[in-house]
Amino acid sequence: MIKVLVNGYGTIGKRVADAVAKQDDMQLAGIVKLKPDFKSRIAAAKGYHIFAEGSEGVAAFDAAGQRCSGTLREALEGADAVIDCTPGKTGAQNKALYASAGKSAVFQGGESAGIADVSFVAQCNYAQARGKKYVRVVSCNTTGLCRTLGAINAAFGVESANVVLVRRAADPGQVREGPINAIVPDPAKIPSHHGPDVQSVLPISITTAALKIPTTLMHVHVVFCRLKRKCSAADAINALESAPRVMLVSTADDFASTAHLIEYARDLGRSRGDLYEIPVWRESISVNGGGLAYMQAVHQECNVVPENVDAIRAMFDVCSAEESIKKTNASLGISK
Ligand code: NAD
Repeated sequence: MIKVLVNGYGTIGKRVADAVAKQDDMQLAGIVKLKPDFKSRIAAAKGYHIFAEGSEGVAAFDAAGQRCSGTLREALEGADAVIDCTPGKTGAQNKALYASAGKSAVFQGGESAGIADVSFVAQCNYAQARGKKYVRVVSCNTTGLCRTLGAINAAFGVESANVVLVRRAADPGQVREGPINAIVPDPAKIPSHHGPDVQSVLPISITTAALKIPTTLMHVHVVFCRLKRKCSAADAINALESAPRVMLVSTADDFASTAHLIEYARDLGRSRGDLYEIPVWRESISVNGGGLAYMQAVHQECNVVPENVDAIRAMFDVCSAEESIKKTNASLGISK
């Protein structure tokens, strides 16, 4: 059993903690939270050990009458690895503490690529993360692009890709970010940072532009790419259909919008209504000359969760990419 501590219990951290707790080869050593609230109360009810960042936090839990097992430093003693799910750039500050405790660490996409030995998407470069001490699971958008472009690249070779990302303005709980009534170039320069981030995993030529819109339900990407080898729309559908954690959806089946996709995940009974897979609209997949185009969506709150679990298995070199993806998928109800 690999003992895994999750530091940071927000949008990503609480989902990663639940996913780790479901693995039969991992044990959740605990979660680290800044202060007591309803989230820590629910975590305690699940039987998770709760730690605070420092002694002031421990005192705050005591004052609130919530059980706290100690500080982050103490939590690290009982862990083999930590998954850092603190806000962007906080992981960089935490790395020295993990290193001094001799612990392996997984970081998230809000950190710069230099924080880790490898930037990671399980189906693209699991082998590169085998035996590594520090791995960075890339952002939700980068993960989504790597899953589909990785499959297309493996099947036909991507000469170059251009992507427009239509981004959710905030996660549902981020009330300070909204409401907004505007379309915001995010940033008003091309390329956005997403292209270089994809290149930290996949060595392809890619240019990205991003726009923020007033929604909390998923991102949508419009992908145009030129291919090295010819393919038909049916070939592209086959390649995407066989890619792990990618699902083809159709408007004919009433997948008319991101709202419908989230409703689907809720109807499936998925925890928190999470859609870990990248849905690609079947009718958007089109081929014109040497070019392929398609539209896909990304559930930003959860699609990186299975990658965090696979990153731990890669770092401890316990099994192959295929075995890890299969195990993680089975635990989260992902069909392939
Ligand atoms: P979040 O703000 O929802 O959660 C972060 C949590 O960490 C909060 O509960 C906060 O109180 C806590 N925290 C802050 N400082 C801390 C510290 N020093 N020690 C311990 N806990 C601390 O953030 P998030 O959306 O979960 O993002 C976490 C990471 O995941 C970031 O790198 C982000 O870029 C990345 N990410 C986010 C999304 C997304 O859409 N939300 C998607 C993919 C990746």
